[in-house]
This record gives sequence, structure tokens and C-alpha cells, in this order.
Amino acid sequence: MFEFWLLASDSYSSMANDVLIIGGGFAGLAAGVALAEAGRAVRLLEQKPHLGGRARSFFDPVTGSKVDNGQHIFMGCYHATIRFLSTIGTLDRVRFQKQLTVHFLERTGRLSVLRCPSLPSPWHVLLGVLRSGSFAFKEKLEILRLGRSLQWVKALERGPERLSVREWLTKLGQSERLQRNFWDLLCIAALNEDPSVASAALFERVLRLALFTSPEDSRLGIPSVGLSEVYADAAAAYIRSKGGRVECRQGVASVLVSEGQCRGVRLSNGEQIEAEGVLSAVPPLQLASLLPGDLLRHEPFFAPVVSLRPAPIISINLWFDRAITDLDFVGLRGATIQWLFNKGKILGAGENYVSLVLSGAHRHIARSKEELLATALLELRELFPRAQKASLLHSQVIKERFATFSPTWEAEQLRPSPRTPVRGLYLAGDWTATGLPATIESAVQSGYNAARTIQDDRRNWSTTP
Ligand SMILES: Cc1cc2nc3c(=O)[nH]c(=O)nc-3n(C[C@H](O)[C@H](O)[C@H](O)COP(=O)(O)OP(=O)(O)OC[C@H]3O[C@@H](n4cnc5c(N)ncnc54)[C@H](O)[C@@H]3O)c2cc1C
Repeated sequence: MFEFWLLASDSYSSMANDVLIIGGGFAGLAAGVALAEAGRAVRLLEQKPHLGGRARSFFDPVTGSKVDNGQHIFMGCYHATIRFLSTIGTLDRVRFQKQLTVHFLERTGRLSVLRCPSLPSPWHVLLGVLRSGSFAFKEKLEILRLGRSLQWVKALERGPERLSVREWLTKLGQSERLQRNFWDLLCIAALNEDPSVASAALFERVLRLALFTSPEDSRLGIPSVGLSEVYADAAAAYIRSKGGRVECRQGVASVLVSEGQCRGVRLSNGEQIEAEGVLSAVPPLQLASLLPGDLLRHEPFFAPVVSLRPAPIISINLWFDRAITDLDFVGLRGATIQWLFNKGKILGAGENYVSLVLSGAHRHIARSKEELLATALLELRELFPRAQKASLLHSQVIKERFATFSPTWEAEQLRPSPRTPVRGLYLAGDWTATGLPATIESAVQSGYNAARTIQDDRRNWSTTP
């Protein structure tokens, strides 16, 4: 059975904590803000010298630019995230479009746009598609057919839950060309996985939430500052303003479990900290290293912790001596690189700096940085005439090997709820059971779900005779 930790109460740090949170990414910080708001004494422990986890920014010493670990896009349907940013006072640092507008550039140099007018759903998308030069007439009919089935047929009637996105789209009559030029780009951007393995049920949910709910929900939001400035410091300041603590360089080595109850944590420096509740807001593999071995081996609830597979994202940041495009961002059709973001323009820093995104990058992650850079430059020079004369001043290739979990339909069955079988131990993180792909919104929702569960349990215990 479980490995029990023998804990002498006097070995704990003298300060009794109400809730300990492990991890200072979106999930941990959102939970911390919600619990602090509810009057709980929160202590958040982050192992790194900085907060932000997989969504952070830093200064590039060569150019002095603010650089994100990878471009992050928000959406109007990120309701929990919008609430979180409003609470900490930073919502204005994400610039939302007035209406969904996406440009696509083909290898032939042809530029087209999908712009969805402010009409009630689903007409905003349907009219946007009909008016767009991004699709052939036959493809527009295919998209309308898919839209109609999303709008009028209940999700479970068609049973996409065991299908891949590729199988589902083919079943719904989407041609191979339309899949390659449109749906694949959308699927990889939203789910960070190839359509041949990504879960159709998850993709369908994303389409419903993002495209077929309202024109406001369909809008994209792009941070106008570095990612960390969007939330990390402001969330920490909020927690501290409510009397909580947020500490970096505080790695947790293990959670302490005895007799089926979580009592606190042991830090990497050996110190033990007691708490009424412990919330793990770390990715699954890190959680595996924190749990007692017997618990991980024998408690089925924790099986997903070692079963979820990672999906990588590669970001290539390039600084040129001149602007290569006036667009804010553009989807690249038929290229290895999927998206270009004009960071110099978006951040308003006066630099000719672009960030290229390659999501679901399993096939490319082992390639050398030099090779990836060469591919990117070749494609940019082919796609953007101005890039042919531009000189490259500086470059960076950032590989995030564990960017998200791989959202196959099997993985969807494995995602755990916030309440664990160990009393007092809770889970949050983009990979837990939110029904969303591993995104900022999933992380924030998971933090809120965990905070609510912790509050509910406390109320139940206090009313138990
Ligand atoms: C390159 C890239 C691009 C992305 N693009 C988008 C996008 O466009 N839109 C979108 O919505 N999402 C995007 N995502 C996904 C998004 O970043 C994540 O879903 C989200 O940041 C996950 O937050 P989290 O709090 O669940 O986990 P994390 O951010 O991983 O936070 C976990 C924290 O726990 C800390 N930790 C781990 N172990 C310990 C320990 N033992 N002790 C103390 N602390 C510990 C870690 O250091 C980390 O800070 C992208 C991700 C990447 C990598």
C-alpha cells in the first residue's frame, strides 16, 4: 500500500499554512488569487527564480528585446482568463481584435483574409467564410456543411469521441486540400498536435466555443507586452496584498502523505512545511517525482501522471535590419513554419523582430537549431519578398519539448479531477480534466476549479458533526 511518511509535528516549519500551492504558472497563480480573494492564507512555492512556467518572458541580452518563451494567443472565449486578468488589473495588456481576422499567405505569394463580421453566431463565421478569398467555392460549401452539423447536431449523436481530427473531418466531407490549408493549421494551433492523432471530440469542443458561440468569443487577443508582464508579477502582488506569500527558488522535493492524508511538503533544502491543504499546480511528470512511490504505483487515480505524452513547440525569433511585412500575424500555408508574428509591430518597440511558430513539432524537435534556422530563412525569403534583401541581425531558436500534453482521445480519458483520493491534496494544471486543450484557459480554469474544490471541502469538513 502507500508509503507512509512519519512526521513529527515539531519538525515542521513553525508557521502553519492554510493552503500551500506548488508551481507559479497560470494554474497556480489563478488558484492563489482565487483562494486569497476568498480569505485563505496562501503560500505559493515556485522552484525557478521567476514565475510564469511555460508562459513567461525574459530580456534578450543581445537586442534588449522582451522575448516570450513562445508566442501566446488568447481568445474571447477565454472567460476564466479574462476574469483572472480583470481581478489582477492587467486585462488591458492583451489587445483583443474587434472581430476575428486572420490572414493566410500561400507559397505562391497569394495573401487572403478570413474576417468575421459582428453578426450573431453562427452567421458571423458563415458570412466570414463566404466572403473570404481564402477558400475556393467548393471549400466554402464544405465549411458551411461542417458548421451546420456543429450548430444543429448534438456532439454525442455523431460520436466523435474516439476519432482523430483527421477521421472526423474526412467523415464530415472536408476535402484533403481544405484540411491541409485550413483545418490542419487551426487544429495544430489550438491543440498542439497533428490532426492524425489529435482528439476529434476536443477539437469539436474548441470549434464550438471559439467559432460557434458568439463573435466576441471568436476574437483573438495578443499581448502587447511581454507575457510575464501580462500576469505573473501582478498575480503575485495581488496574493501578497491579501496577506499571502509567493516565493521563487523554493523547489518542492515531495508531498508528505501519511494515513491517506496530505500533511504538507518537503522542500529541496530539506525543510518541511505543514499545511491544511496542498495544491499541486505542476505538469504531470513533475508531479510524479513529488508523490510517494507506492501511491504512484498503486493508486489508479495517479496513473495518468506517467501516461500523458508530451507535444513540443518550436519558436524561432529573428531580428532583421528592415521590416519584412506590415501584417501583425499571418498563417503560412504549405510551409514548415505555421505562423509568423510581427513582434516588433505588436510590442511597438520599433524593432524588426518576428517570431515564427512551429507547433505539434514532433518531427522537427530533434533537428539542430542551425537546421531549423536555415529552413525558416529559406521559407521566409520565398514567402515575403522583402525578406530577400533583409539582413539577419540576430536569431534564437527556443525548443519547448514539453509544451503541452498530446491531446489524443485516449489522453482525454486520463485527465484527473482536482480532488485526489489523498485527503488535503489537490491538483491543477492545464493537463487536468477541464475539457479543454492544454492552454492558458485550461490552466486558469483548473486553478479556479481546484480553489473551489478546496473551499467546498473545507465547508464540508467544518459542517461534519
Ligand atoms: C511555446 C508555447 C506556446 C504556447 N502557446 C499558447 C497559446 O498560444 N495559447 C494558449 O492558450 N496556450 C499556449 N500554450 C500553453 C500554455 O503556456 C500552458 O497551457 C500554460 O502556461 C500552462 O500553465 P500551468 O500553470 O498549467 O503549468 P506551468 O506553466 O508549467 O507551471 C508549472 C510551474 O510549476 C513549477 N514547478 C514544477 N515543479 C516544481 C516543484 N517541484 N517545486 C516548485 N515549483 C515547481 C514550474 O517551474 C512552473 O513554473 C503554449 C505553451 C508553450 C510552451
